[in-house]
Amino acid sequence: MITRFAPSPTGPLHLGHAYSALMAHDMALEHGGTFLLRIEDIDQSRSRPEWETQIYDDLRWLGLSWPDPVLRQSERLPAYREKLDWLWNNDHAFACSCSRRDIEAAVAAPQEGAQPEFGPDGLIYPGTCRDVRAFAGCECPPENTALRLDIRAAIDVAIPRVAEDRIYSFHETGSGPNGETGRVEFTAEDAVKDIGDIVLARKDMGTSYHLSVVMDDAAQNITHVVRGQDLFEATKIHVILQRLLGLPTPTYHHHGLIRDDAGKRLAKRDDARALSKFRADGASPADIRAIVGL
Ligand code: GLU
Repeated sequence: MITRFAPSPTGPLHLGHAYSALMAHDMALEHGGTFLLRIEDIDQSRSRPEWETQIYDDLRWLGLSWPDPVLRQSERLPAYREKLDWLWNNDHAFACSCSRRDIEAAVAAPQEGAQPEFGPDGLIYPGTCRDVRAFAGCECPPENTALRLDIRAAIDVAIPRVAEDRIYSFHETGSGPNGETGRVEFTAEDAVKDIGDIVLARKDMGTSYHLSVVMDDAAQNITHVVRGQDLFEATKIHVILQRLLGLPTPTYHHHGLIRDDAGKRLAKRDDARALSKFRADGASPADIRAIVGL
């Protein structure tokens, strides 16, 4: 068993991160496996070296250890680019110049006042640039332009049209927000409707969370992904990409979210719940385990 904790160094780790990291660590150790740490720093505009240092410090303080070297996503950009080239050359990706505002306008246009549909990656893309296929003749995808997955093309490759049941699935050992557990299934048609053409590479990043996480989980041979339920729906995107790219699908273990006293989920900006704050107030790692219920 290989598990991982994959924080982004964009703020302090809080109790929710501690919960994920401890659970992934304990699970690996119980099975004689390995716990890995990965730094998800593709968003260079928000990532800071001091947050990365603080992550190492907080996790060591919690009693966790992991093998070196730690994989940092910012060092993997050429690998992501290679896969994007492949997706581009196989016509699974298209260039998208829509701003958020363009998307909002296009989504609202057919029926004035209609509620836009949201998927695991935000507003479901209305398809504006899909048929335009800008830069289509180019051998490489354009840089400094967002790339989106053509989900209709992607599912046809992953699951041939002749297949009786065009079904994707993954194994969940924790639970989704609605109690989903065991074999979780969704159809290719649901994916088109509920997920749509997600962003594969952001204009300013040259990749996206979804592409990077899927490639890195495979590159690191992760067998069990432990993370919060807020990423449960995103797992469907990950399964689609794994099928398309010929990568294995790990087992997923989504856990409940640690909430603040008002029931709101913790965010990086909630410094009151930062581990460093608990440390400064004299809490011990055992206190943290007790607070998160481990
Ligand atoms: N980097 C993501 C985060 O900090 C976690 C990704 C994952 O566990 O799949 O929220």
